[in-house]
Amino acid sequence: MDFYRILVGLKKIFEMLRILTFLSLIFLGISCENASKSNENMTQSASKTTTSEASFGIVIHGGAGTILKENMTDSLEIAYKEKLTEAITAGHTLLKNGATATEAVTATINILEDSPLFNAGKGAVFTHNETNELDASIMDGATLNAGAVAGVTRVKNPINLAEAVMSKSQHVMLSGTGAEEFAESQGITLVAPEYFYTEGRFQSLQRIKEKEKTQLDHDSAVLLEEFNYKDSKFGTVGCAALDKHGNLAAGTSTGGMTNKRWNRIGDSPIIGAGTYANNATCAVSSTGWGEYFIRAMVAYDISALMEYKGLSLQEAASEVIQKKVPDLGGDGGIIAIDHQGNVAMEFNTAGMYRAHMNAEGELVLGIYKDE
Ligand code: ASP
Repeated sequence: MDFYRILVGLKKIFEMLRILTFLSLIFLGISCENASKSNENMTQSASKTTTSEASFGIVIHGGAGTILKENMTDSLEIAYKEKLTEAITAGHTLLKNGATATEAVTATINILEDSPLFNAGKGAVFTHNETNELDASIMDGATLNAGAVAGVTRVKNPINLAEAVMSKSQHVMLSGTGAEEFAESQGITLVAPEYFYTEGRFQSLQRIKEKEKTQLDHDSAVLLEEFNYKDSKFGTVGCAALDKHGNLAAGTSTGGMTNKRWNRIGDSPIIGAGTYANNATCAVSSTGWGEYFIRAMVAYDISALMEYKGLSLQEAASEVIQKKVPDLGGDGGIIAIDHQGNVAMEFNTAGMYRAHMNAEGELVLGIYKDE
């Protein structure tokens, strides 16, 4: 009898345990569903933050130098302004539609490279040997990844090759024929070197060579170098952008300096000098007397002043362009944008081709000082 009662008791206990297990499984199921829902919400709100329209913007330059109103015809001025507007509008539209900062930088620079007005791509200046050697670089502020090419002679859009070096190679900088081999392997458009022939640039070289002969009779090589620089370069192009995802990027493309020799390479393809981008601070593209911009590490120095000294973008840009570079003896300018969309267009020359467009699509365009 006792045995029978024990059995019935045990059965009841098992029954209760079964019910309890069933109930706790239901409870667990509900909690998991809630947890996953709240996770979903968190991701959604995180992605909302990163795709927020809060601020994006783009800024470009088309070179700094002795650009004087009195030396400019009305039609040429209009041509420059139209091309700057076309390029910045294209970059801005991409950003508005959610493109990354590096995509916007590359596409914007392509338009300037394809124009004979600027010393980059099609309009590249001539070397002493009457060839064209092009340099470019790009940097992604989100990853600190970077790519650069120097001394290429057959690449239609060197910024595209710099971008390929950044995203499709393990390297940061390639040069000359090796860089062109890599370009071929990546399907980057190559052209015959004659593509870069423009009559205006060729005549500039001839004028400089003429003057060089007379100058050499009288002055030192140092003066010659200065003379070469001052008369011989405008129109390097550059772009810095902040995208809707909060990422910065900058790029620069150039033909360098007219009459350059010995495979001279300037600052434009040097990460830290001609180009720098870091999401923590800003994105910068430089233009000017490259030798000085390399020595002053211009683009990185602006970022470093913000990072280590807490300077604003404008303060950092003025410090480097109005003090450090001229104190060394160089000149030129930069365009830059910070992680909040603030912009600097700073130069210590008579002019700098420049444009900025904010998230609202407001355009600021300039060529000369004080405008
Ligand atoms: N910085 C370029 C170079 O030295 C020239 C320029 O920006 O105009 O090659």
